[in-house]
Amino acid sequence: MRRSFDREIVMHLNQTESAGIYVHIPFCIQKCPYCDFFSITDQSLKQPFIEALLREMDMTGNVPFFFDTLYIGGGTPSVFKAGDIGQLIKAAHRFFKISANAEITIEVNPGTVNPEQLTSYQGLGINRISIGVQSFDDRALNFLGRIHSGKDANLAVKWAREAGFENVGLDLIYGIPGQTKRSWLFDLQRAVEFEPEHLSCYMLTYEAGTPMDKDRQKGSFCTLSESLVSDLFETTIEFLNTHGYVQYEISNFARSGSGGFEPKSSRHNRKYWSFAPYLGFGPSAHSFIEPARYWNCRSVKKYIKEIEAGMLPLEEKEVLSREQCMIEAIYLGLRKRDGICIDAFDRKFDTSFNRIFGETITYLEKKKFLKVAQNRCALTLQGMLFLDSIASMFISQEFSGIIRKN
Ligand code: SF4
Repeated sequence: MRRSFDREIVMHLNQTESAGIYVHIPFCIQKCPYCDFFSITDQSLKQPFIEALLREMDMTGNVPFFFDTLYIGGGTPSVFKAGDIGQLIKAAHRFFKISANAEITIEVNPGTVNPEQLTSYQGLGINRISIGVQSFDDRALNFLGRIHSGKDANLAVKWAREAGFENVGLDLIYGIPGQTKRSWLFDLQRAVEFEPEHLSCYMLTYEAGTPMDKDRQKGSFCTLSESLVSDLFETTIEFLNTHGYVQYEISNFARSGSGGFEPKSSRHNRKYWSFAPYLGFGPSAHSFIEPARYWNCRSVKKYIKEIEAGMLPLEEKEVLSREQCMIEAIYLGLRKRDGICIDAFDRKFDTSFNRIFGETITYLEKKKFLKVAQNRCALTLQGMLFLDSIASMFISQEFSGIIRKN
């Protein structure tokens, strides 16, 4: 059985943007209590999973896209040895047209790497490494239930450089109970000392159903006040700007170089924010070929079983209406520092952004949450703190009514 992307692919054939491949590795050594990504800790299914993954790629192959990113995420891809990751990369090259200068990223957890392994990953053609540091402070790491220490995080970054990675991204988390502005600045300072090309700074969120959220509801710990979290967010932007990093998305920063703007922003992640097509492989992975989104089942056992039975492990497909596509374009556009390109929005939806949202824009501009200039509509720093509420103002009942009429 082959994946039936036909209609969406035909609609995309005249588009010039390249597509991305995302591979979800659904294994972790231990579940972090704040995490709601799909992964399991039973390592016994690793081998059948890799076999199923290669088969899923084979069953999907022959799509007429040109891919310029391959992102191996998870879960914890670094629970796999270079030999397995190498098989996966080879299969991707065998079944898909991947450009010679593709960005190939692997996510690693500092508690699962060693120098030889990172050198082997680099030798496979992986040219970008994203290290899940989260913090260099052992107290914060302990609260987050991470399997590694601050020392492990330092070593992982050092080994990545020694292995030859020239594009290194670090993930950090702020808003952790017990954290102070001082301790967060310590993390940021430590991070920039490594001169990573990319930094992702995520605000800790309490996802419904996670053990950490349950503990929060029981009052087991005190969350940080909203004003402190806002302060940490603003501190992050200010600190990173003064250390040569450009914020190009709400949580993402790229080191600016002499070669131009955003030299090392994540090419793959930018696809998610710009409606570019991507195919996802592995349990729970999502694919998007406008206007349709597909996602795989959220179970390793079911995933393997379905593929062994010759079926694709698709859980569901959702075709977005024009109205839903507009809503996504607004939400994703507002996440980006340079915001929504109004001309592109008008051309894409054959409408007038200013006519539809004029009232909301005027209101938000007065509040200093939004700025419209040079044909772009973007959130201010203050507005970024309220992204969700602002996006929902754009898509409120009243405005969705207007969208429908246009
Ligand atoms: S290691 Fe990453 S994917 Fe795994 S449970 Fe922790 S945060 Fe989630």
